[in-house]
Amino acid sequence: LGSSLRGSLDKLRGKSRLDEEDVEEIVKEIQRSLLQADVSVDLVMDLSEDIRERALNEEPPGGTSARDHVLRIVYEELVGLVGESTDLPLESQTIMLAGLQGSGKTTSAAKMAWWFSKKGLRPGVIQTDTFRPGAYDQAKQMCERAEVEFYGDPDNDDPVDIARKGKEELSDVDVLIVDTAGRHALEDTLIGELEEIERVVDPDRNLLVLDAAIGQGAKDQADEFESAVGIDGVVITKLDGTAKGGGALAAVDRTDSSIAFLGTGEEVQDIERFEPSGFISRLLGMGDLKQLTERVERAMEETGQTEEDWDPEEMMKGEFTLHDMRKQMEAMNNMGPLSQVMDMIPGLGGGLKDQLPDDAMDVTQERLRDFEVIMDSMTDDELANPRSVSKSRIERVARGSGKSEEQVRELLEQHKMMSRMMKQFSGMGDGDMQRMMKK
Ligand code: GDP
Ligand code: MG
Repeated sequence: LGSSLRGSLDKLRGKSRLDEEDVEEIVKEIQRSLLQADVSVDLVMDLSEDIRERALNEEPPGGTSARDHVLRIVYEELVGLVGESTDLPLESQTIMLAGLQGSGKTTSAAKMAWWFSKKGLRPGVIQTDTFRPGAYDQAKQMCERAEVEFYGDPDNDDPVDIARKGKEELSDVDVLIVDTAGRHALEDTLIGELEEIERVVDPDRNLLVLDAAIGQGAKDQADEFESAVGIDGVVITKLDGTAKGGGALAAVDRTDSSIAFLGTGEEVQDIERFEPSGFISRLLGMGDLKQLTERVERAMEETGQTEEDWDPEEMMKGEFTLHDMRKQMEAMNNMGPLSQVMDMIPGLGGGLKDQLPDDAMDVTQERLRDFEVIMDSMTDDELANPRSVSKSRIERVARGSGKSEEQVRELLEQHKMMSRMMKQFSGMGDGDMQRMMKK
């Protein structure tokens, strides 16, 4: 998809003016991608109209080629479509989650709490779902994994009462996240209960949680929840699957709100703050560098590393030492599956991934520890220039570390592979789309 849009754009090379046919071809490519990503027909049609109108009527600023002109318009209109991120000040607040059963509320509650805790705030979660069997245990376990405060009561079957007590019990947290029950479909009881919980906890923000696979149903759900409690933002979950989440845009549109968070997996760390350019890349089926950077930054926070310790820019200049590799593997270990991370890097996704040996993805704690032990037996010079490590040195390092020569060779192989990856990574700087994303 991304490549056919790029193809259409490339045809404009050298042109100084756009004609209707050019614009139509580009609009068609974008329409195809967005509809495939479940964006509603209405929204796609509105967007198409705006792009046509602007591309044909706006005068390109002096010196701008037709191609750059249309690229800018397309990007600006796409940002208009997906919206800016929901404003979430890093301060004390109460957030209530709403949504149908299975949409991902409980998971998102723990993830969001984890996210706020990484920002230095003290979050807590109240589980008010008395309807779904096991809801209490599920929420409690996830909050334990997220290492955040939790309140629930498996013996109390009154959600409103639990909400009231939870609010008292967790009165000293900064960010209170209230998880609620869902049903299979919208029912009066669900909505009534939600309204009562809202009255009791008095949230600053209500977020609607939607499964990325939601299609046309998004509109009705959004309308219902909007009229019951008012929706200030949307959380799109399960973006790690095949669904691109475009359907949720209809909910954003109906509630006149914006997207706050994206869920990208079942673990508490699998959450990202919504950011327009990354989401647009996903919708159009292209990678995004920005999200990778965010993940890397967060992983570094976890290992207590600083930017000075691990500077991707520096690393990509070619001097990729074993020290760099160790830091990078530690960061990856905290980032979740490497294969998922790689999917987010433009140009890396399919191709390179297939060329890599399976164990390239293996950055388990155990493998890391073995590597560390081996590295402790290497000299500074060897660590800085791993390619210079000869056969006799491999023997020495193996003896010194108590590991096998095979393992030492594995470490050197891993290094070679990762430095190749880094080169590839750094060679991806000047694609059209990346320029477009940066504006
Ligand atoms: P709730 O009924 O709205 O509270 O939904 P849950 O939080 O219980 O989630 C329903 C199911 O979806 C659970 O099996 C979750 O593990 C799963 N789930 C939630 N968010 C994500 C996500 O971002 N990615 C994936 N792969 N699964 C998710
Ligand atoms: Mg739940």
